[in-house]
Amino acid sequence: MNPVQAWAALEPKMAATRRRVQSLEWEPERRNSFVPYTVERDSAYADLEGTRHLMMSGYSYLGLTGDPRVVSAATAAMERYGTGNHGVRALAGSIPLHEELEEEIARFADREAAMAFGSGYAANIGTVGGLVGPGDTVFIDKYAHASIVDGCQLSGATVTRFRHNDAGHLDRRMAAASPGGVRLVVVDSVYSMDGDIAPLPELRRVCDEHGALLMVDEAHALGVIGSTGRGIEEHFDHAVRADVKLGTLSKAVPSMGGWVAGPAELIAHLRYAARPFLFSAALAPAQSAAALETLRILNAEPERVTHIQKESARLREILTQAGMRTGDSRTAVIPLIIGSDEDTYDYATACRRSGVIGLPVVTPAVPNGLARLRIAVTAQHTKADIDLAAEAFLEAARACRVISA
Ligand SMILES: *Cc1c(COP(=O)(O)O)cnc(C)c1O
Repeated sequence: MNPVQAWAALEPKMAATRRRVQSLEWEPERRNSFVPYTVERDSAYADLEGTRHLMMSGYSYLGLTGDPRVVSAATAAMERYGTGNHGVRALAGSIPLHEELEEEIARFADREAAMAFGSGYAANIGTVGGLVGPGDTVFIDKYAHASIVDGCQLSGATVTRFRHNDAGHLDRRMAAASPGGVRLVVVDSVYSMDGDIAPLPELRRVCDEHGALLMVDEAHALGVIGSTGRGIEEHFDHAVRADVKLGTLSKAVPSMGGWVAGPAELIAHLRYAARPFLFSAALAPAQSAAALETLRILNAEPERVTHIQKESARLREILTQAGMRTGDSRTAVIPLIIGSDEDTYDYATACRRSGVIGLPVVTPAVPNGLARLRIAVTAQHTKADIDLAAEAFLEAARACRVISA
């Protein structure tokens, strides 16, 4: 094959992407819901085409992205250690900050030990791959995050999916699966498109009946659910425990990186078995320091968590009372379910005209007919911001006939 033929073979894939992008960008007005925006460092507002908008779709749950304490911890680490970690820890070594961060994560997660990865995605690939392989079976929720799905596929284990948040269906799936090998169940603690919570006590019971390990991905739970933001176990009053807990340092925690926490022996195993830990660079010093400082702040300021819970419940109440559909949301993530992709883009545009950014989530990210704006309340939203957002969402909903006027 000559080089021209080699590129020609790739052409159908690139053409398919071009078609997909075009189908999303019919009109300039609608395309505007994708226009890049710049979030202000220390508020819930963002600049979009030169105008200030209230940002209602951000993931920075704790509102600490611009916190002076986090910024100065990161700056000090960069001054002390430089900008990068020049490679994987097994070869380039760890800095003391890596170990301090891992100890803090273990304490925070109430586990013997923890380890950090370059991202939450890498944490899932590494952890699932370190737990299961060919001959083992992994059971995942139908809505499990893409990084869990990819981790399962790469592991070579048999992958079985069960209906969303349906422990009864998991039970039947496990009864029908071939016995033997490691059995692992992986779920998100909080689902990022719906804001609902995994039924941990029921899942634990089914896992125990069938001799399976239970792993939870706390990406949208850390800092958000549980009375002090410690996630799904605290949410269920510590009635049951997961075997493995995992998360990201890029959502509530305003940094980058991922983590897994569990028994010391498991973490010791993963340090040698998790391939992204062995073959991908470690967290940079500034990222590690920002994450560490955030966990300390979270320990000291649980009122941030209380605020998120109170204001998200209030916003959900106002919107559902007015007839908006918010599904099974119980957390800071509130889907405003509109229906078709097209109507959802129109609704997003109407919200933007009212000064509020709500980002549309359409197929294939959500099932057909359930397109939505994915709203998230953060500690940076004041009570007045939430009132303003509620008003804008309802005004736009009346204008788009999502609810009656
Ligand atoms: C965002 C997310 C991840 C990936 O985390 P990154 O640090 O961005 O790689 C993993 N799992 C879930 C459930 C997520 O929402």
